[in-house]
Amino acid sequence: MSLHPTDHCSKLRVAVVGAGISGLICAKMLQEHGFQVKVFEKSWSVSGRAATRRGEPQLSFDHGAQYFTVRDSVFALSVEKWGQLGIVAEWTGRIVDINGPNVLPKTDQPVRYVGVPGMTAMARHLADGIPVQFKTRITNLERTERGWTLTDAANETRGPFDHIVLSLPAPQTAELIRGHSLEVEARAVPMTPCWAIMIAFDQRIELAWDGAFVNNSPLAWVARNSSKPGRDQSVDCWVLHASSSWSAAHQEDDPQLVQEILRAEFAQLTGRILHSPMHIAAHRWLNSATPLTLDRQALFDSLSGLVICGDWLAGGRVEGAFRSGVAAADCLLQHIGQAQLSYREPNRLGPESSETESTD
Ligand SMILES: Cc1cc2nc3c(=O)[nH]c(=O)nc-3n(C[C@H](O)[C@H](O)[C@H](O)COP(=O)(O)OP(=O)(O)OC[C@H]3O[C@@H](n4cnc5c(N)ncnc54)[C@H](O)[C@@H]3O)c2cc1C
Repeated sequence: MSLHPTDHCSKLRVAVVGAGISGLICAKMLQEHGFQVKVFEKSWSVSGRAATRRGEPQLSFDHGAQYFTVRDSVFALSVEKWGQLGIVAEWTGRIVDINGPNVLPKTDQPVRYVGVPGMTAMARHLADGIPVQFKTRITNLERTERGWTLTDAANETRGPFDHIVLSLPAPQTAELIRGHSLEVEARAVPMTPCWAIMIAFDQRIELAWDGAFVNNSPLAWVARNSSKPGRDQSVDCWVLHASSSWSAAHQEDDPQLVQEILRAEFAQLTGRILHSPMHIAAHRWLNSATPLTLDRQALFDSLSGLVICGDWLAGGRVEGAFRSGVAAADCLLQHIGQAQLSYREPNRLGPESSETESTD
């Protein structure tokens, strides 16, 4: 008697390390195909770098990914569905290029999407029904004849698992797979830091734009977070991102000093006298993005059952993370003879849980 693929999958245990977009879409696909999936996440919330920081009720900052664009047809289907569910919407903020005194409307204007009410909305949706163990930083992996075992920072061991999916930034992946043949591929991918400033004013700063790509400045990007759909507009919340070169040069600086320097740059950029902000905070992303544009999608060692995914393998950004997570799940599904070369959002409507802070 032949075994139904799902019966076969239900015996397979998979550990996914990392609850960002790539890890969660992979976990979702595998769970829907009958795998026993468990996700381990070092922080206390999902979504990784597609993050939303909340403070007092009116304060909300997408301090990681600002928005996302869509090129891939499989991703487009999911984004369309997410739009129907109300968890993503188009951001029609006025975006400009700033170069010294010159402020010009951005010439290429792709459709820009954001999560609603924050950038974590997509990950929260994907995580629905998936067991995620938070505050669990995996520090060691071991493969024995029984399968993979994982050790966390508290020295607790988890497993065994038949397969393991790593969905982390490249440097963190390389550290976890020291000595494995795939280490060299992850080690070769540099990732740049980014200082993010979250700043809020009780009076709106009147400007002719809501978001700006900034050239020849310590700042690379500034955006009025409260101009995004579904955000509280009673407070003027802004996110400022330093350039990768400035962030690298100031990587170890005191956050207070960084926030003062970048706040002064922002005041100069706007040409306004800015009142004391009602809130200001800095966050340093150590592995924000890679300058490389790899299109490996996912790495798979079929002998050991190790799968590696993450934005850095598929062109970076939210879309790359999604594509890479789908590719990682496909590797395992094809490996067990259950081809699934795309992902389709299930036809299901349900309430979303509320937003909380997410940091890396
Ligand atoms: C400042 C900034 C601006 C950006 N702007 C944009 C943008 O405008 N548009 C866009 O499309 N993209 C943007 N991005 C990129 C986008 O956020 C990422 O491409 C995407 O979110 C990556 O998803 P991921 O799942 O690959 O990785 P991550 O989101 O990094 O997920 C990895 C997860 O693994 C967890 N983790 C790490 N190590 C361990 C461990 N040892 N054990 C357990 N868990 C661990 C982390 O906490 C995290 O939750 C930006 C990113 C940053 C930081």
